[in-house]
Amino acid sequence: MMKKYFTYILLFGSPLFLCQNKTDGKSTYQQSWVTLEEENAALAFDADIQLTNPELALDKKLFEVRKQFLSETEKQKIPIYNSSFNQIKPLIESSSLFKIFQTMPKGGLLHTHSGGLASMKWVISTARKYKECYVFDQKDTKDFIYGQLAFFENGKAPQGFVSLDKKLVANPDFENELLGLLTLKRDNLCSYNDYWIEFEKRFTRINLLLPYRPFFKEYYKEGFRELLKDKIQHVEIRYVFDELYDFQHGKYPLKTSITDLQDIVKEIRKSDPQFSLKLIYSSFKFLDSESIGKQLEIAFGLKKEFPDMISGFDLVADEAAGHSINSFQKNWSKLNELSVKYGVQMPLFLHAGESASVFNKNILDVSLLNNQRIGHGFNLIYFPKTMELIKKQNRLVEVSPISNQILGYVSDLRNHPARVLLSNGVQCSINSDDPSVYGYDGLSYDFWTAFVFWELDVKALKKLVFNSINYSSLNDNEKKQSLAYLNKEWDSFIQKTNMDLK
Ligand SMILES: [Zn+2]
Repeated sequence: MMKKYFTYILLFGSPLFLCQNKTDGKSTYQQSWVTLEEENAALAFDADIQLTNPELALDKKLFEVRKQFLSETEKQKIPIYNSSFNQIKPLIESSSLFKIFQTMPKGGLLHTHSGGLASMKWVISTARKYKECYVFDQKDTKDFIYGQLAFFENGKAPQGFVSLDKKLVANPDFENELLGLLTLKRDNLCSYNDYWIEFEKRFTRINLLLPYRPFFKEYYKEGFRELLKDKIQHVEIRYVFDELYDFQHGKYPLKTSITDLQDIVKEIRKSDPQFSLKLIYSSFKFLDSESIGKQLEIAFGLKKEFPDMISGFDLVADEAAGHSINSFQKNWSKLNELSVKYGVQMPLFLHAGESASVFNKNILDVSLLNNQRIGHGFNLIYFPKTMELIKKQNRLVEVSPISNQILGYVSDLRNHPARVLLSNGVQCSINSDDPSVYGYDGLSYDFWTAFVFWELDVKALKKLVFNSINYSSLNDNEKKQSLAYLNKEWDSFIQKTNMDLK
């Protein structure tokens, strides 16, 4: 062994010799190490944040709380790194960290979808109160699938549909079965590959519920209530427009969804004046260019009428199955012309790079377009030149850690690609995507996940929270007010948590 060591020194010199030059009591090697560490940290997304003394104190305490949590799971042999979100959900809920995150102001939820908002338990218990609500309880047909919910006038339900309430009364176990059909879990981390097939069935099962105007109103009131309870003050919904209807009037024009939502927000602001909402007009990547052209015209028309409600345009659905963003070049090249025609801008908020494949190059397009924020964007780590551009353009990546695990893009959350983005200085925010489909509400679960698995500190948390307002589509005045509220809430959270964790 000694011989080997001397041969090594003869060949390469002793690394110890480097350490002999000492200044200020530190070896030059150690000084270089410290400098290198600082240089790396200076490139991170949160490098501009200076913590106050109370924030630094809380940082130390949260570090200890997490350390204790991890050593306890180790002691109890709970394999948290090899578990799905659903498996560790009860553990998350029972942790003291989770209770802290529930009280943390989250700012805005920038990435969520219509249909993925209010919890499915609530959906079932509320839908059954409508005597006109039915559930399809036969094997899938070409028109309907098992567990699909819908409203029909008395006596007009198609064959295979039964009254939801009667079915639940006759078979109380059906409630749990239905809940399973409306939510998506990833209990066994490798039982199947195409998660999107099952994922989309969840939306099919409630798609016919949401346009029914009385239910629509209740749904969004509940969705917003759940967000407020979790200390979320602003929300931007990737919104798929559908004509609302009821049995007295039939169909309403598209804009009724907007005016109804405005009324709901107005009502909520009576008790929670900080609450705000923006809609991102969303169409689908599986449509052809001609259809997207028509969708863009509708989006521009709505934005012209409701410039404070519609913030931009997106294309959603599975990127692997749909068309590439690049294939819609013709549509994107007409955006300027449409802006002139309607007198409003239509920034893009595209889902791009929700993929573990380098063959998905959607992320290249977003850096070439007027794209404000990127939905998911985690395969950006494979395109270093584009990553540079995104940083220069100061665009934000909307990260949804739990969604990414449930849809199979990452298993061990410690290896989430967003960590690469954060350390390389790409701005991000934390999002829940479709929390109701994943069986939870709010943003606390996603923040817990990011804090524990990505070893975040208070500096990173603060930057993520404030990014969600700074990169929102609130106008300057709204943003100013929203930031003033968030600052106040943040300070009192720091003060209160510091006291609780004495
Ligand atoms: Zn999404």
